[in-house]
Amino acid sequence: MKYDVVVIGGGTAGCAVAYTAGIAGLKVLILEKNIHLGGAITSGLVVPAMNCGNHQINTDFFEALISELRALGGQITYQDNKGWFNPELTKIALDNLMQKANVDVIYQANISNFIIDNKNIKSIEILDKMLSIPNDTIHKDNVLDNSNILSEPIEALYYVDATGNCDFSKKLNCKFLENENKNQPMSLRFVMSGVDIKTFAEWIVDYDKDRDATTTEVVNGEIHLSTAYTWDSTKEWALKPLFEDAVSKGILKDSDRNYFQIFSIAGMPTSIAFNCPRIIENLDALSLVDTSKALQEGRQSIIRLANFCKKYLPGFENAYISNIADSLGIRVSRRIKGKYIYTIDDLKSGKKFKNPVLISNYPVDVHSSDKDSSTLEKVQEYQLPLESLMSDDYDNLFVVGRCISADFMAQGALRVQPSCFSMGVGLAKYFIKNR
Ligand SMILES: Cc1cc2nc3c(=O)[nH]c(=O)nc-3n(C[C@H](O)[C@H](O)[C@H](O)COP(=O)(O)OP(=O)(O)OC[C@H]3O[C@@H](n4cnc5c(N)ncnc54)[C@H](O)[C@@H]3O)c2cc1C
Repeated sequence: MKYDVVVIGGGTAGCAVAYTAGIAGLKVLILEKNIHLGGAITSGLVVPAMNCGNHQINTDFFEALISELRALGGQITYQDNKGWFNPELTKIALDNLMQKANVDVIYQANISNFIIDNKNIKSIEILDKMLSIPNDTIHKDNVLDNSNILSEPIEALYYVDATGNCDFSKKLNCKFLENENKNQPMSLRFVMSGVDIKTFAEWIVDYDKDRDATTTEVVNGEIHLSTAYTWDSTKEWALKPLFEDAVSKGILKDSDRNYFQIFSIAGMPTSIAFNCPRIIENLDALSLVDTSKALQEGRQSIIRLANFCKKYLPGFENAYISNIADSLGIRVSRRIKGKYIYTIDDLKSGKKFKNPVLISNYPVDVHSSDKDSSTLEKVQEYQLPLESLMSDDYDNLFVVGRCISADFMAQGALRVQPSCFSMGVGLAKYFIKNR
């Protein structure tokens, strides 16, 4: 099997690379470990895409996804933001887009072998069979029989690690940036349905009338909204008394009120997406023990938050939990050491580069587990250079998405979806030029 580009991880950024390269005629394969594309958007239920300003570049994939989703009834423009997506329909939209771009996709892919020649990845192999029938795969003397379970070697000119956690680069023993004990808490997002959104919207607009945490707008005849509360004292949050009352009565734990943000969803007229709970314990996003704990804690918190909403928020009386993300929301983890390490100084000074892959003004958004310690700092427009997507270890290995070569604070601004889309498109354009 020979490809121009193999993308490992069909999530936010990986899909942008694959679609852009595929539609331009390159032969592209996505290897995705899940059973659908979209990564954080679909399995993490992360909607909507944040606004990144009016001067974005490499927006081709974002635009393609918007029109595909609009045709499916899964996109609206809310408060000038076109990235108001439906996470379930995004799975279908991405299948459609990859089909249009002739991109091959292998789901449940597991890379088990690779061949390296000096600074070049020559080929990789994936497990070609499910390992649920041990007799298929194990010799009589209990030795794993690789020849029986591996695919044909998959060769490519370019390999892209779009796994979020640099999973592929880790297998290849690449160098990574030091994490300097800095972290952002993980979240486990969920959706409640059966919400009377009109009743809730009318109530919250009145309840939050002097503050700026709430927005609402009627789009295509339906009311949409967003509102928020955190335990930080940076704002006079309208919902604060309700959360405090629920904590005093044992309906919520104090930690449940560390961050609460909700959005209506395109094409789901009785559903609300929750950008919480945020799991504030200091847990390692790369440890299975820690992430398992985070999942368990997250689901317990979801039950409490759902009960809180039903009891305290008009319009939620008959609501129920309809979806819990099937992957943890990880804001930051392992990042590649690239040919260029992008810094917060580059970002804040708006440094210009010869080969920018994105332009954005999304703030430096670094969540903290501690009260009054999160950062949401407005910045002027900034650019990210292509070299931050290039591995320092292998000539034909590239990284896109939240695991790029950027320092901790800069990554806090770059990690949002429109920027992941742009970097994916920018990288694909480099492949198209250098085919
Ligand atoms: C809680 C939370 C809230 C957020 N809120 C917003 C928001 O409101 N708006 C916004 O714009 N951004 C938001 N973000 C940021 C943004 O959603 C993510 O940073 C971005 O989507 C990450 O994109 P990615 O391509 O790097 O990773 P992902 O989209 O996670 O894609 C990685 C893909 O790789 C696959 N994969 C992983 N390992 C392997 C492997 N070994 N082999 C094959 N496939 C593999 C995964 O299954 C997945 O499909 C939020 C992030 C979090 C965590």
